[in-house]
Amino acid sequence: MVAQLPEMIANHIELGRRYSLRPVINATGVILHTNLGRAPLSDAALRHLVEVAQGYCNLELDLESGLRSRRDIHVESVVLRVLNGASARATDPDRHGVIIVNNCAAATFLALNSLAEKSEVLVSRGELVEIGGGFRIPEIMEKSGAVLKEVGTTNRTRLADYESALGPETGLLLRVHQSNFSIEGFSERPSLQELVELAKRTGITLFEDQGTGLLSSLERFGINGEPSLLQSFACGVDLIAASGDKLLGGPQCGILVGRKDLIERIRKNPLLRAFRVDKLTYAALEATLQEHLSEDATTIPIERMMGVLSEEIMRRCRQIAGQTVCSDLALNVVPVVSLIGGGTAPKASLESFAISVRHVTHTAAELLAALRRLEPPIIGRIADDTVLLDLRTVPPEFDADLASLLSSL
Ligand SMILES: *Cc1c(COP(=O)(O)O)cnc(C)c1O
Repeated sequence: MVAQLPEMIANHIELGRRYSLRPVINATGVILHTNLGRAPLSDAALRHLVEVAQGYCNLELDLESGLRSRRDIHVESVVLRVLNGASARATDPDRHGVIIVNNCAAATFLALNSLAEKSEVLVSRGELVEIGGGFRIPEIMEKSGAVLKEVGTTNRTRLADYESALGPETGLLLRVHQSNFSIEGFSERPSLQELVELAKRTGITLFEDQGTGLLSSLERFGINGEPSLLQSFACGVDLIAASGDKLLGGPQCGILVGRKDLIERIRKNPLLRAFRVDKLTYAALEATLQEHLSEDATTIPIERMMGVLSEEIMRRCRQIAGQTVCSDLALNVVPVVSLIGGGTAPKASLESFAISVRHVTHTAAELLAALRRLEPPIIGRIADDTVLLDLRTVPPEFDADLASLLSSL
């Protein structure tokens, strides 16, 4: 005991110096894991973030005129270029605008509060969702001062339901993406296009809480039918809210993009000041959006992870299992399904492989906890009393570390 004292003291000091927020190895196979910080940033985003953070920057200074400017300027044109399908329309900044806030929850709240305080907002009963972490549409609506007017039923809402609920008190039509669940079977709701037409016909603004921030489509990863920002924008939704750190693959933020007059009204809301983001967010977001405009979007980590072939993951699993030397562990390579997560594409799954790990004496829960105590911590998951380490979400440069960490158990 006494002999171990120096080592114990050294450990104690070491622990005291350690940061609370630390990098971990995400071996859950969930690409956008909210508990693990959602989207990892690309190299370009990191480089831009560091160069902007290291010194001063033109956050609110127009370098031409020397006058004060708006921080949203730094991403407005690149957002609009991305949404116009890269064909930069010179006139677009006259018609559309962009506001960046802390997250999509803030974007939705701010839009409702700015455009519909004290007036009715029509929402389908099938879209009164809880996204997670306390974000529930009816509660956000109430806090924003808007009056919720439910239309249709949980499983079926028709255009006629919106039409008959319209009245002098109506301030907004709201469409909410059913991010983290799906309604199967006897169900219907109007297409976004039909709602756009209704909005045009009646002069009522259509606001969409799009959520996922998916830009184009996930078809190249074999995932069909996930609605995208490009589709919403192209079909003429007046105002859209989306997350920056879900399928966009950027920093945590909320993006409001839409008609210039609506954006101007939101900009006048004194609450915007409470929701605005810092230079680090603009730097990372601007760089991420520019990468989406380039030919090769695989520089964005989540794009790369979605695109890895399962055979390649199997090969890596076998290699790590072969390199791990620990007589207390039994390792196997098994087929699994990775998830996109983060409240997006609930039905989508990606075929993958995992290392299944069993310990001679520890239960799966004990083994999972032991993995979390490693440095860096390894985060796995349990299925059928076995710990699974899905390598889809582990960058290959960690493979050698993973083998030696497992060997140390
Ligand atoms: C994820 C999501 C939100 C919340 O986004 P955050 O950026 O996490 O605040 C809101 N609405 C929808 C439809 C979502 O999918």
